[in-house]
Order: sequence, then C-alpha cells, then structure tokens
Amino acid sequence: MECTHCGSSKYIKNGVYKCSQRYRCKECNRYFSDKVRKFTYADKERFLEMYLNNVGIRKAAELLGCSPPLLVRWVRQFAVNLRRDLSKVADDLSKVEDDLPSNSLPEVIEMDDIYTRVKKGLACPGMGCLFTAAR
Ligand SMILES: [Zn+2]
Repeated sequence: MECTHCGSSKYIKNGVYKCSQRYRCKECNRYFSDKVRKFTYADKERFLEMYLNNVGIRKAAELLGCSPPLLVRWVRQFAVNLRRDLSKVADDLSKVEDDLPSNSLPEVIEMDDIYTRVKKGLACPGMGCLFTAAR
C-alpha cells in the first residue's frame, strides 16, 4: 500500500475511521485509509497530464472510466494542493529572505492556458499555465 496523496510507502497507523484503518504519511503528513479506492494516485497523475495537454474533461472522464464532475473535483483539489504547497514554499522562503512577508501567497496561479473558475465566490479564482506564480 502507498500514500494516496504522494505515493510514498512511509506511513504509520493513526487510528480507525468508519471501520477502516487510518494512516498518516510520513512524507506529506496527510491522512489516508486502507479503504479500497477506485482511483489511485497514478490515475490522478494520468488525468493531470491529460488536463495539462488540453484533453477535455469529458474525454478524460471517458478514458478514465469516471464521471466529469469527479474530474472537476480533482481539478479543484489540485488547485487547493498547489495553493497549500506554494504557501509552504513562501513560508520557507520567508525564513531565508527578509523582504518576503510570512504566509505570503502569490496573487496569480496559473496551471495552463485554460482559465477555470475554481470555486464560486472566490475573489481570485483561476488556473492556468503549469506553475507560474506572480506577486
Ligand atoms: Zn504522502
């Protein structure tokens, strides 16, 4: 078994939730369970590659054998994870660079050239070109 978030095999048991063993990953510090998942981390990676190569959501859903709304949720989750990871990078940078305020986040995050509303009501939604961050 491997971490469903980062694929690491370094994890420890961390209680039981809804009758399934819960684990905490030592690499990414996130939690997962041993419940059988239909889609693996590798499936998500495969979808991300398709998404970044302009394969439409409906076509990707057809290829992966899942529903388009699931893939939209994955895209939103990628955006949340990216924001969290960038926040961590900003925190790390602020420790070494005095001119960067702590907890500073980039104002623009682009994952590719497709502009997608990530969540209703967000002031600064959007995804676009793989990993471009600007202040
Ligand atoms: Zn992990």
